[in-house]
Amino acid sequence: MSGTLDLLGVGLGPANLALALAVDEVTTPFEALFVERQPTFGWHRGMLLPGATLQVSFLKDLVTQRNPTSPASFVCYLHERGRLADFVNARTFYPTRLEYHDYLEWAAARVRTPVRYGTSVTALRGVREDGRVVAVEAELSDGSLARARSVTLGTGLRPRLAQGLTHSDRLRHTATFLPDVEEFEATGAQRPVFVVLGSGQSAAEVVHHLHQRFPTAHVHSVFRSYGFSPADDSPFANQVFDPEAVEEFHAAPAAVREELLRRHAGTNYSVVDLDLIEELYRLEYAERVAGTHRLHLHRASEVVDVSETTDAVAVTVRERTTGAVQHVRADRVFCATGYDHLDPAELLTDLAGSVLRDAAGRVRVRRDHRLVTTDDVTAAIHLLGGTEHTHGLSSSLLSNVAPRAGEVLDAVLADASAPARPGRPALVP
Ligand SMILES: Cc1cc2nc3c(=O)[nH]c(=O)nc-3n(C[C@H](O)[C@H](O)[C@H](O)COP(=O)(O)OP(=O)(O)OC[C@H]3O[C@@H](n4cnc5c(N)ncnc54)[C@H](O)[C@@H]3O)c2cc1C
Repeated sequence: MSGTLDLLGVGLGPANLALALAVDEVTTPFEALFVERQPTFGWHRGMLLPGATLQVSFLKDLVTQRNPTSPASFVCYLHERGRLADFVNARTFYPTRLEYHDYLEWAAARVRTPVRYGTSVTALRGVREDGRVVAVEAELSDGSLARARSVTLGTGLRPRLAQGLTHSDRLRHTATFLPDVEEFEATGAQRPVFVVLGSGQSAAEVVHHLHQRFPTAHVHSVFRSYGFSPADDSPFANQVFDPEAVEEFHAAPAAVREELLRRHAGTNYSVVDLDLIEELYRLEYAERVAGTHRLHLHRASEVVDVSETTDAVAVTVRERTTGAVQHVRADRVFCATGYDHLDPAELLTDLAGSVLRDAAGRVRVRRDHRLVTTDDVTAAIHLLGGTEHTHGLSSSLLSNVAPRAGEVLDAVLADASAPARPGRPALVP
């Protein structure tokens, strides 16, 4: 097959960016292309709130855990920016998200492997030869096609709204928070009222940001739990994000994997940094003392109705313990209600039926992150995320992007140097 790439990366977030940097280190002939929907590199730009910090150590950057001598590390970035000594003096493992975004942009600009920005992969199809799928053909939004023997899906997560809610000009997911709030600010509305749904890190950050940014605003924070709970980032619990944990997790029985995910959900889901919880508590308490209440916490509560009028959103909040109902007339509703994984079948068109699934209907994934498919598919599809059920809690986070990039690239390189496809052993899950 001529014109067939060794590797096509779909998406260029941190996951595929770590892989692109690893590809740059390959010394044998190797042709790869990365395709990214956004016009330039961007990492959750809508939530780059001033002061918000990274929730993993900077040492879990794009390269260090795979190749500590790489010139694309966070330390090299600091050195090049002339801030290494200053960062050391700050005595932290957790740079701000703004600084980390700058690092990621800096690293993306260093990538030598071609990246096509402003282009989406709209579909992936199998290329058949002698009854086997030997490559994958990608349909790109610019009308062109790209063919590759291996594909990595690093498409990230999709914002999720609470059930029954739909996007509108006044009801948005926090994924686009900063542009939305800037647009609102430009209206010059006086004494605005905001409703924020959710009890995780994004919800707490948005509640705090709105309260500080709009000194006359009333901010209603609505969440189903009784209070914001702290993220468990204690050292033993944190080991669940280690590269070795992925090894153990993948080899464990399914029931044990499920239990571990449940037991350690508090390291990542619906939890908030303790500093921020304490800051919100201090704010609310100070308002009680002053008698000027504008931060309203609706604990153990849920939104039971949302209806838009011409100039506002009428939100009905029900307290689940008492059943008491409160009506809030809001200028904007922000949903910090999480993200969903994309099922790879959405892009895989004619190949979707070749993907093998477990009893719960989830895709089966090998230790080297390759989708388990029927034997006739010799082209490789690797998942960089959406594999929590097989690879554990770090699957869609930053913790393991570097080691995972190495594992995937090793698998792809082994495949590229393998003998002709016919007669190769079937995939072993
Ligand atoms: C506000 C926020 C803060 C976070 N902070 C942390 C943190 O501190 N630590 C941590 O470990 N995790 C954090 N996370 C979790 C987050 O998932 C990771 O930080 C990281 O973004 C995962 O990288 P990724 O490459 O898998 O996905 P993404 O960063 O989502 O990147 C996916 C990329 O693929 C592109 N794409 C999608 N579909 C297509 C397509 N069909 N064609 C072309 N391009 C496509 C998208 O445009 C995007 O650029 C945070 C998440 C959020 C929302």
